[in-house]
Amino acid sequence: MPFDAALIIQIVYLAAAALFVLALKWMSSPGTATRGVYAGEIGMLLAVIGTLLHHGIIDYKWIAIGLVLGSIIGVPLGRVQMTAVPQRTALSHAFGALCVTLVGTAEFFLYTPNVPKSLMAVLALEVILGSLTFTGSLMAAGKLQEILPQRPISYKGQNFVNLGTLAVAIAIGAWLVYNPDQPVLFLLMIALGLVFGVAMIVPIGGADMPTVISLLNSYAGLSAAAMGFVLDSKLLIIAGALDGSSGFILSVIMSKAMNRSFTNVLFGAFGQVQTAAAGAAEERPVHSATPDEAAAILAAANKVVIIPGYGMAVAQAQHKVRELFDTLTRRGVEVTFGIHPVAGRMPGHMNVLLAEADIPYDKLLDMDNVNGEFTQTDVALIIGANDVTNPAARTDAASPIYGMPILDVDKARTVMVIKRGMSPGFAGIDNPLYYFNKTLMLFGDAKAFTGDIVRELSGAGHK
Ligand code: NAP
Repeated sequence: MPFDAALIIQIVYLAAAALFVLALKWMSSPGTATRGVYAGEIGMLLAVIGTLLHHGIIDYKWIAIGLVLGSIIGVPLGRVQMTAVPQRTALSHAFGALCVTLVGTAEFFLYTPNVPKSLMAVLALEVILGSLTFTGSLMAAGKLQEILPQRPISYKGQNFVNLGTLAVAIAIGAWLVYNPDQPVLFLLMIALGLVFGVAMIVPIGGADMPTVISLLNSYAGLSAAAMGFVLDSKLLIIAGALDGSSGFILSVIMSKAMNRSFTNVLFGAFGQVQTAAAGAAEERPVHSATPDEAAAILAAANKVVIIPGYGMAVAQAQHKVRELFDTLTRRGVEVTFGIHPVAGRMPGHMNVLLAEADIPYDKLLDMDNVNGEFTQTDVALIIGANDVTNPAARTDAASPIYGMPILDVDKARTVMVIKRGMSPGFAGIDNPLYYFNKTLMLFGDAKAFTGDIVRELSGAGHK
């Protein structure tokens, strides 16, 4: 039987598409997430192999050069710290979107002046989405890495100017569908897309960047799907659609968890750092405690809920937290974890870290499930979390996080907070919880302080 490359390519693509779908399905639960990552990786490998089998390729030299270059960039990108994953992801979107824009441009120049109408329409969609995602993602990565200022920059009439720029780009795209013999206009459309990408991110504060990145993820997916139509690749259409829809769903989930609407995230100029409020915090008295005192309270408790946050991630305290969980559980204390959907700096941040430390998944309760538990909780132990426990979100209508659903830790009998000082969290605002009578501040690094508590609990004093 002759070697039928076209058939083999279709089978390989089908397997890759199935693996992409399974990867998303499996990644939705911590128990199967690792399998999901492998499925996605194998799917991507199959997609690359299938593409390399194409008859249309006459010279592999440039592909090899691209592969080497891509690996040189990709391998270090894969090794960044967990806390830098959002900006790393933004860079990946930027590269993907640049690639989509360049492929779209090459296709246009291949066909022009005879670009079929339907092709031109998809090409316009592809390059507009690709170009705005490229610069938008670069801006988002720059803000998160703090190379660019995090604070939102806004001016009067900004939304009008921004949306006007996008509208002109779309109008040029529509014009080109009927008059495709105008390469200058095509390039102008891309330039406007690039400008819109920058302008779109400028008014959005650093705190909203992860939501924006997930939205850009969605745009990158849609532009890749459009490229799939241009190149007649079903696999690209499927992968792009999966990427586009999952990115969109994730953005909606994140916006809901912060009680923000999409329009508010995109046009609301949120995330300003309120240094004044943070400064005022220093003067008010708080109750603090030592590891020994904290251990004594925990040892006497029946029910403890641990609330991890960004500080646990920075301190890499998850393994010490696991030791604390083991020590308390051995003593008969009921210990669970309260996970806020936007604790940390990326979706699932806490779940990933706690899974890494082998904490049983059934002990991780999400916000809706744990909030009812706090009234029967002896100790709410907050480890490096701040904004997600801030009662101002419920009580202070003037607070920038007002309306954001939070973990109701203040309903527990005692609240203990491990953090290094009185610095605010990502929203840049003071936390009234720290001044409550029932709150004990445990000042120190999350890893070191948790370790000290474990040592105290294991020592003679609290047996
Ligand atoms: P957070 O509000 O940013 O607070 C983290 C706290 O950790 C800080 O107040 C800091 O205080 C403390 N900390 C830092 N390093 C520490 C260390 N080594 N040891 C002990 N403590 C340390 O964190 P969060 O409560 O997890 O809230 C997440 C924030 O990010 C929210 O505002 C959320 O809206 C935002 N956000 C998250 C996502 C997401 O996907 N997860 C997306 C968008 C926005 P000290 O400096 O005093 O120690």
